[in-house]
Amino acid sequence: MRLAGKVAVITGGASGIGRATVLKFVREGAKVVVADLNLEQAEAVVAEVEALGFAGAASASKVDVSEFAQVEATVAHAVEVFGRLDVIFNNAGIAGGKALLDHDPAVDYAPMIRIDQDGVYYGILAAGRQFRDQGTGGVIISTSSIYGEQAAELAFSYSAAKAAVISFTRSAAYELAEYGVRAVAITPGRVATPIIGQFSAELQALFASEQLRGRMTAPEEIADVVAFLASDEANVINGTVVHVDDGYSAYKQRFT
Ligand code: NAD
Repeated sequence: MRLAGKVAVITGGASGIGRATVLKFVREGAKVVVADLNLEQAEAVVAEVEALGFAGAASASKVDVSEFAQVEATVAHAVEVFGRLDVIFNNAGIAGGKALLDHDPAVDYAPMIRIDQDGVYYGILAAGRQFRDQGTGGVIISTSSIYGEQAAELAFSYSAAKAAVISFTRSAAYELAEYGVRAVAITPGRVATPIIGQFSAELQALFASEQLRGRMTAPEEIADVVAFLASDEANVINGTVVHVDDGYSAYKQRFT
């Protein structure tokens, strides 16, 4: 129960890493707003929480993280339903991309930046203001990616957005320290979620082989780390990146 008494907003909470984190957080005693573009799926996750025996521990909120007013409304929803906010997990995102010279900027750049980059900025801003007004401090965890630290094929816009998430995290830790706020970014490698499902089976097998132990990470394994980072046990992890990539970033090339 390391999150007992804490209230969290988890964006992208309806699926994958976000859903697993919702379930982990309620098991650790938190109250959670399951915030997602897909309200129906967010409500299904709330039903899962209820079925696990944590009645009233989760509440669904429809949000498009690329709209600041909607992100503010989701933070307000947490305060209205659960009375406060202690943690925001800026995790909603999309993936994919095209070779740079094939880009239509309106299709292959702008939406990615609006969701994966602006969405995190909006979460930091809205939650940061709430933490300041509450006078309680808080924790901001944001999902970057291994691609936030390196170039990758078909990932020009995605890499830019995920690099910004790391920069936002450092700056937020710096700017919000006076309000007792911590900020941490995580960089997942290859996680078995629907976002990966859009790629061919061949590519998915390649992805798995790129992690040192040759397997995809389960979303629950990421959720375990996020719960730790949100807890007071991680009190000195601040303004930095926690690699959750099963060794992907530890080596450059294999010959087998
Ligand atoms: P997922 O597709 O299972 O979950 C993403 C969720 O975000 C979905 O529920 C979707 O509805 C929601 N979402 C999309 N656009 C939104 C918007 N505009 N507003 C609100 N919600 C929106 O994928 P996932 O793998 O769980 O992805 C979670 C995060 O992890 C993403 O930021 C992704 O980039 C990142 N990530 C994933 C992997 C991986 O291998 N799965 C690796 C690195 C980083």
